[in-house]
Amino acid sequence: MRVEQVFETRRNLLDSRPMQDASQEPDRHVTAGALTVEEVAVEGSLRPRSLADYIGQAAVKQNLEILLAAARQREEAADHVLLFGPPGLGKTTLANIIARELGVNLHATSGPAIERPGDLAAILTNLDERDVLFIDEIHRLNHSVEEILYPAMEDFAIDVMIGRGPSARSLRLGLKPFTVVGATTRAGRIGGPLRDRFGAVYRLDYYSQDELATIISRSAGILGVDIDTQAVDVLARRGRGTPRVVNRLLRRVRDYAQIRSDGRIGTDEATQAMNAMDIDDEGLDTTDRRLLAAIVQKFASGPVGGAAVAAVIGEEIETIEDVYEPYLLQLGFLDRTPQGRVATERARGHLRGLGYEIPAPRKSDRTDAGLWDGMTAEGRAEAEGRAESETVA
Ligand code: ADP
Repeated sequence: MRVEQVFETRRNLLDSRPMQDASQEPDRHVTAGALTVEEVAVEGSLRPRSLADYIGQAAVKQNLEILLAAARQREEAADHVLLFGPPGLGKTTLANIIARELGVNLHATSGPAIERPGDLAAILTNLDERDVLFIDEIHRLNHSVEEILYPAMEDFAIDVMIGRGPSARSLRLGLKPFTVVGATTRAGRIGGPLRDRFGAVYRLDYYSQDELATIISRSAGILGVDIDTQAVDVLARRGRGTPRVVNRLLRRVRDYAQIRSDGRIGTDEATQAMNAMDIDDEGLDTTDRRLLAAIVQKFASGPVGGAAVAAVIGEEIETIEDVYEPYLLQLGFLDRTPQGRVATERARGHLRGLGYEIPAPRKSDRTDAGLWDGMTAEGRAEAEGRAESETVA
């Protein structure tokens, strides 16, 4: 299979995101948003190459197997597939697997890399029959590019404008059938018309600890790391439900064991390495704790708007929403209400256990009836729906 990077490598794309370069942020050991050059290379070697090797996400795998087998049998391009979920859960990996299982080429690009309609037209006219076009961060495509993508996905044709002014005319160019695999961390940001063009929409969920343990063992095998099962569990527990995070922890623990002991990783080495990296028992790093502590201490546990939290801890709001909050929500440490973020009693308990000073909360949790006072049942259902879709996004 030929893998082609269109316009920019993944590394370059990630570089363009402000404040996400792990090499400049020594705190960022565990969160899934940042990639270093070394990691891009290692990730490539750790990526499962087939659906059979892809661990977890059973429902997605089952549906994909049928979709791909049917397309192969009909000798047609597979339906367009939209994958959504937090960073590091395996969207890029799945796009690679889809192309490989279909026996076609993968062309990889991303929403922000396609600036003008002409850029997309150039990519599309370059695709071979049944190729896979992977568009990462598809929610960041600009509107004029989306307009070209619609007919391309639906009718395998694009309309090109020729000439200017009164003599301008539109010419329809046919394309070879192809498959778009779109990936996004924010399903809520994808408009109805674009979403409707995808025949299959799959949501990737956080992985269970058992699944993460299997991923760690597999990666250890590939990297030639000697790690015992208890140490695997120490990492899996702190893996934030995310394959990219556990692979990253494994590499850091490997370094630690190599320098501090004989290279074998047992529970002691794993635990000491986690402590040295300031990763607590829940897998939270210093940024997570700063975020929770800011809400608890500076805003009396909330509710507080995202922009205010971002300003206090000096992070981009996008990074907070994409990288940090989803896992804190999943852990039950944060709640998102129509009024803003609320730190829960669990979060306060966790911080208290770590020795933080905990002022009395202004409001308790989202379940606090006070938050909903004066709201009709309908208004409340709508607000909850909105909070839910924001959470998903
Ligand atoms: P995303 O595109 O969602 O940010 P990636 O597909 O780049 O995530 O996955 C990050 C890393 O995690 C990959 O290099 C791969 O090694 C690992 N990974 C992801 N999903 C799985 C899985 N299901 N099984 C094993 N490893 C996985």
